[in-house]
Amino acid sequence: MVSRIIPVESFDLIIFGATGDLAKRKIFPGLFRRFLAGQMPNDSKIIGAARSNLSQNTFSVLVENSIKSFAEIKFEKNDLRDFLNCLNYLQIDAAGAGGWNELKKALRPEKIRAFYFSVSPLLFGSLAERLHENEIITANSRIVVEKPFGRNLETSKQLNTILAEHFTEDQIYRIDHYLGKETVQNLMAIRFGNMLFEPLWNAQYVDHIQITVSETVGVGDRGEYYDRSGAMRDMVQNHLMQLLCLIAMEPPARFEPDSVRDEKLKVIRALDPVAPHHIVRGQYGPGSDHSDYRTGVNKSNSMTESFVALKVSISNYRWAGVPFYIRTGKRLEARKSEIAVVFKEKPHSIFGPEAGNHQNALIIRLQPDEGITMDVTIKEPGPGGMRLIDVPLDMTFSETLGIEENAVPDAYERLIMDVIRGNQTLFMRGDEVEAAWAWTDPIINGWIHRGDVPKPYDSGSAGPQDSLTLLEREGRKWREIL
Ligand code: NAP
Repeated sequence: MVSRIIPVESFDLIIFGATGDLAKRKIFPGLFRRFLAGQMPNDSKIIGAARSNLSQNTFSVLVENSIKSFAEIKFEKNDLRDFLNCLNYLQIDAAGAGGWNELKKALRPEKIRAFYFSVSPLLFGSLAERLHENEIITANSRIVVEKPFGRNLETSKQLNTILAEHFTEDQIYRIDHYLGKETVQNLMAIRFGNMLFEPLWNAQYVDHIQITVSETVGVGDRGEYYDRSGAMRDMVQNHLMQLLCLIAMEPPARFEPDSVRDEKLKVIRALDPVAPHHIVRGQYGPGSDHSDYRTGVNKSNSMTESFVALKVSISNYRWAGVPFYIRTGKRLEARKSEIAVVFKEKPHSIFGPEAGNHQNALIIRLQPDEGITMDVTIKEPGPGGMRLIDVPLDMTFSETLGIEENAVPDAYERLIMDVIRGNQTLFMRGDEVEAAWAWTDPIINGWIHRGDVPKPYDSGSAGPQDSLTLLEREGRKWREIL
């Protein structure tokens, strides 16, 4: 099965930071895949901008190499040539005066104009200011901004204020690429497209919810950046928070940007503060082929966490008393992102105590092998009485739907096309980001205030022992990561 392609209007896209890592690994390969799929019209214009002095040819080669390395798709020479024909490069310093006139001349007044700020957030203000001074912002313009959107409530508010000076909220697209993942959108389809689940989706039937995002990689060459953030800022405040919102929110009236974002915001505002004994932080130890966290970030006394687990509660009518356990970390035993909705035990077992405890669970896998599994209880086949076992009803989307490899757009390419379409449903609104920081800040400030030291954990494990205890002391268990 091939996904249905609805071409977008032709556009002018300006990528600031066009020589950077994100542009090379995600933006250009993603755009090329949409071009190949027929979604990006041939008369669209992509202008790369950065401070480096590059000829058009050198820039073309840079983009060609990034496509060959990261697009993960077969293509003909002609396709690549046609795509590269849509590209131009301009030397522009976000904080300088040169290049803006050329940019203005290169843009077409009647076209959708998208500015992708793939640069340090410290440059967002001067970029917005330069675009304004040079009268490049039109009513049909929009900007895409990358995470991190601030490092606390104060800085996120400052960023929102800076951007609001020259852009309206409906022109600002704050990317959280998790929202562009197919399964994340499926989460809404599963919840609100089926009659089956929603009646059970509340404190009466749900025992608890687990959200796990585990990585096998370490900090790599982002050590310095990562050590200034840690798992809480890098993953929980944005990605895991978004998953939590989608799983916990009330059904929006319509699948429209503000309806969805209003409901997500209500969840964030209903989050309780997290007690210190409901938080576990960790730092990974050395492995056979890598150093420990502190060596990796080149800071022998680093107090930054590469792992965090939290017990979170939501004070509202639907979720009162239901724990949400969330965890994320680096150098864990497997790469996995999943949400498990674990249902309560039956009020009474007609099979007697010897049948044991059995809880249904709905598992939504984001990666790898996007799909859903429903743990159901059945009779163990064979003689010997009524013995019950739990078996998974498993559906891997690519197998079930016969989706061809690479037919589904990856998160970035889908989100860029949404920017062109002007659909903000899968982007974070300013008040959402601020509310997420308002909940996160006291947790981080508490660590600093108390001088909390992250617990060491073995590389390739499920994280610190205390994270397992967090659930065990409440008679629950994390699902296996492996
Ligand atoms: P990067 O590799 O350091 O690239 C930065 C880019 O900005 C380069 O093209 C650089 O080119 C350009 N630049 C720097 N100073 C500039 C200036 N004064 N004026 C114009 N251009 C300037 O960074 P990145 O990893 O691509 O990240 C870009 C943004 O995406 C950051 O906000 C980052 O937090 C975010 N992000 C990145 C990733 C990722 O996987 N890489 C993931 C999520 C979010 P010149 O030096 O030639 O100017």
